[in-house]
Amino acid sequence: MKELWAIFRRFVPPYKKYLILNIIFNILAAFLTLFSFAVIIPILEILFKIKEASYEFMPWGSASLKDVVINNFYYYTQQCIYDWGPIGTLAAMAGLLVVMTMLKTGASYLSSYFVIPMRAGIVRDIRNYVYDKIVYLPIGYFTNERKGDVMSRMTGDVAEIENSIMSTLDMIFKDPIMIIVCLIMMLVLSWQLTIFVLVLLPIAGTVMGRVGKRLKRASLAGQNQWGLLMSNIEETLGGLRIIKAFNAENKVIARFHEGNQEYYRISRAVARRQSLAHPMSEFLGTITIAIVLVFGGTLIINGTSGMNAASFIYYMVIFYSIINPAKDLSKAMYSIQRGLASMERVDVILNAANPIQDPANPEVIDDLKGEIKYDNVTFGYNKDVPVIKNVSLTIEPGQTVALVGQSGSGKSTMADLLPRFYDIDGGKITIDGHNVCDMRVRELRSLMGNVNQEAILFNDTIFNNIAFGVMHATKDEVIAAAKIANAHDFIMSTEDGYDTVIGDRGCRLSGGQRQRLSIARAILKNPPILILDEATSALDSESEKLVQEALERLMQDRTTLVIAHRLSTIKNASLICVMHEGEIVESGTHDELLALNGYYTRLVEMQSMK
Ligand code: ADP
Ligand code: MG
Repeated sequence: MKELWAIFRRFVPPYKKYLILNIIFNILAAFLTLFSFAVIIPILEILFKIKEASYEFMPWGSASLKDVVINNFYYYTQQCIYDWGPIGTLAAMAGLLVVMTMLKTGASYLSSYFVIPMRAGIVRDIRNYVYDKIVYLPIGYFTNERKGDVMSRMTGDVAEIENSIMSTLDMIFKDPIMIIVCLIMMLVLSWQLTIFVLVLLPIAGTVMGRVGKRLKRASLAGQNQWGLLMSNIEETLGGLRIIKAFNAENKVIARFHEGNQEYYRISRAVARRQSLAHPMSEFLGTITIAIVLVFGGTLIINGTSGMNAASFIYYMVIFYSIINPAKDLSKAMYSIQRGLASMERVDVILNAANPIQDPANPEVIDDLKGEIKYDNVTFGYNKDVPVIKNVSLTIEPGQTVALVGQSGSGKSTMADLLPRFYDIDGGKITIDGHNVCDMRVRELRSLMGNVNQEAILFNDTIFNNIAFGVMHATKDEVIAAAKIANAHDFIMSTEDGYDTVIGDRGCRLSGGQRQRLSIARAILKNPPILILDEATSALDSESEKLVQEALERLMQDRTTLVIAHRLSTIKNASLICVMHEGEIVESGTHDELLALNGYYTRLVEMQSMK
């Protein structure tokens, strides 16, 4: 319950207006329910000719409000019977019942009407919060196993919150109001009987609550398993090519079925427990009614309560009308448990800490020269296993420095440390003498352009993909950038030119074309510092030439850190650093390194053998 209120306090405030309207109409509906049923008493009395007494009109204030209202109601009923006869009166009463019920259902519809924008709005908000947070979190948060899990939290769990917590939002206010209003009326009718009822109801409630607790635990397990399945699906979609090439279909199918079976087992248990709610509440409700019927009947037969038979029937009708909301409420409590489990999972993302923060007093570089310095840098993805060990490296302004080395030696990691995709564990990285941690993250990243091995493109037009990193780029600027990147010709030959949509991750383009688009993007951003991480290694030699040309134009006059797989592409670098197991083991120009006859020579020999 406490958790539920916490959720409301977090998400409801923007929708206060709707909440208030909802509550007003709920109260109205509850009172109309009472009065529509109150008409039943005189109907019964007319039918069974219980009341023979005659009534005088009572002026206001001559007795308590309750007595005056009841007395005058009987007085008018009596008058009607005189004027229209009992049958006519009965028909009029029935008509009154219909009208009251119409008003009641109308009010009840309006209450739902106003709760809906709140319900749908909160779900929209939660989805937005999660998305915003995902974009904000550092790259290090999303390891591959986690991506599917994040997806499942964003889709499955948010949907679960919508289906459980938000869909019960309606009842959460409606039912308690109905119950309270009815209980007050019941107290007015017979306090003895009502106290008896009040003792009974919590006992039934406690039994229901027990089962609910267990439900939450099972749901949590279920959602976690769902996350694993989503990860599995994501991985499969990404690796379908390899799965087929290695004839591994049966292997992945078996793995998926196993996980899915486990999910089946958990969701079966959850659903069974949940479907227990309905029969159990019905059973407990009927037992309660039976007990009240016996106890109340005894009170009337013994004459120890002020009630007569007609008002006892009215009492039972009202009591019955709180049984339903109470049942709904208990059912809602069940599904809320599932929603709370999902909320917990969504909160893991929403509350995830981002270690990459802006400093309190950010330093601003006014006139950037572009000197980059790695000073005794140590870093490990896992604190115990350093991937970069005490590396020092200086890149003078406008210089091109190349990192080469075996795969896994830490080259990409070195490049990722500069824009603070990860924070280093020891040493420091400076740009023009300013520690990167002392700069605003946005500003730091605005200094750099990236071109990676896999061109990262979005399912959008070519124009928007090139203009991705800058606000308000004009068509001419984009075309100019595309020309420098050797991309203009192939863009013009596509169906809609710059307005061509390139498909998911640019799947409708070849590797070389994708790469030239990402180079055009970097050219348009015009950053003083450039990071090229194996930008040409995924390409065939034909497109490599075009890309290499584009890159060389891009690198002019910029401080560049280039990571290269093919050594032929970096022969002209001012400095080549050879990395081996997280350390720079050799550095110098191409010729100097060859003269050393060490790691570099071996790398060169390995490549020329191909
Ligand atoms: P390179 O680019 O030289 O091939 P990387 O910098 O990508 O090498 O990787 C260096 C080491 O760090 C490797 O041992 C790799 O397994 C590890 N590594 C790379 N990325 C991650 C990551 N996101 N989480 C954990 N370990 C990683
Ligand atoms: Mg790499």
